Amino acid sequence: MPPPVAVPAGKPPARAHARRPEIFPGMLRQFDEAADVLHLDADLRKILATTQNEIVVHFPVRLDSGRIEVFTGYRVQHNNVRGPYKGGLRFHPRVDIDEVRALAAWMTWKTAVVDVPFGGAKGGIQMDPSRYSPRELERITRRFTFALGNSIGPEYDVPAPDVNTNPQIMAWILDTYQQTMPPLERQRAVHVVTGKPLESGGSHGRDKATGQGVVHCLEEWARDRRFDLSKAAYTVQGFGNVGSWTARLLAPIGARLVAVEDVSGSFACPGGVDPAALSEHARAKGAVAGFPGLRPVDHGAFLSTAADVFVPAALERQIDETAAPKLRVKVVAEGANGPTTPEGDAILRERGIDVIPDILCNAGGVCVSYFEWLQNKRSEAWDLDEVDEKLRKKMLRACGRVRDAAQRHGVAPRTAAYIVAIQAISKVYEEHGIFP
Ligand code: NAD
Repeated sequence: MPPPVAVPAGKPPARAHARRPEIFPGMLRQFDEAADVLHLDADLRKILATTQNEIVVHFPVRLDSGRIEVFTGYRVQHNNVRGPYKGGLRFHPRVDIDEVRALAAWMTWKTAVVDVPFGGAKGGIQMDPSRYSPRELERITRRFTFALGNSIGPEYDVPAPDVNTNPQIMAWILDTYQQTMPPLERQRAVHVVTGKPLESGGSHGRDKATGQGVVHCLEEWARDRRFDLSKAAYTVQGFGNVGSWTARLLAPIGARLVAVEDVSGSFACPGGVDPAALSEHARAKGAVAGFPGLRPVDHGAFLSTAADVFVPAALERQIDETAAPKLRVKVVAEGANGPTTPEGDAILRERGIDVIPDILCNAGGVCVSYFEWLQNKRSEAWDLDEVDEKLRKKMLRACGRVRDAAQRHGVAPRTAAYIVAIQAISKVYEEHGIFP
């Protein structure tokens, strides 16, 4: 099991903003574009543009030094009309209510695009995990879980890993949640989180699932564009769960990693690198810096690297009006949530750069989270082949739905993906009506 991710000391994040522009309004602009195409009912538009519940908790934790620190944590539940709230937990200094709202809404659209019976939620703690010891991280996680109380639950709201959280953190959440229950009921709560370690009820294939989904989307894109992915050069921003697994799974196809960026800096890989070895290094050291064969470059040079594919797999708003003109690729495969701003998107469109949108491209993770949740409910353990095949089918069907919507409405894939999601969700509202 990997150790809790510690963000290493090193260069500052490649794109640090003193006061960053808001993320939720940017998400709403994407939503509105699709809602306009569909002439979505004004009342439904209001409902979907609003989060259902926003839980903010402040909780004290005693640090190893004996000092008490008070942390702020969030859980935003955007919509559950299609099923229990679902979405990751992020531990990062930049976590705030605006970011979590946007991430929660993206989960609602994503679960609808891939047709898993969940809604959308997201949460996190505003903190820099690299500043805390593993024991402190455990106490912070457990105290956060306790503070959330029944705001999460196996049939109500099911967290999973996201930036700087991992299977170990999910195991602590599970155990803490179970301790608050009567002993006889504890085993029935194993599906309160997904992305758990295998021994604690996790699923085969969950670790690589998001990267696997990105690769399925890229293969579909290559088929549509008659492009030979085995000859592709690609760049990756963020080499954590999503970025490193995408790279590891592109390697057997023959694609070459030519530049990589993470919290430790930006690097060219002139002689090529083995993504599996680089992943092992990043896992052990917490970042890619120091791996043999990486040549430091500046952020601008990283963005301007000539390649076929760019996989943003770090944080939001990386491809904005400054970054988008620099990209020299054929396609952006959005492993991250919200990596492209509306302004960046418009520039990519003008420049003829394809985008595989986040709510489709990185949906492999939530698909396998759903499989894990199902296995837990049924007391089953599926083998990796079964998980892989089910994931492949889910992703290919979702790609097909988005492709069809794009053709039918004459819109870009991002708007098409929102159209697929909005249609699925509106159908349920039409059937249920609004209470009272
Ligand atoms: P992670 O914590 O495993 O990795 C994050 C990576 O981003 C690290 O390599 C880190 O060094 C890098 N990074 C952080 N700030 C950066 C910056 N400013 N510039 C460049 N690199 C930076 O996180 P993850 O789980 O791989 O998530 C990455 C993205 O993918 C997030 O947007 C997340 O919401 C999204 N996502 C994750 C999953 C999942 O299953 N984990 C599923 C869907 C989407």
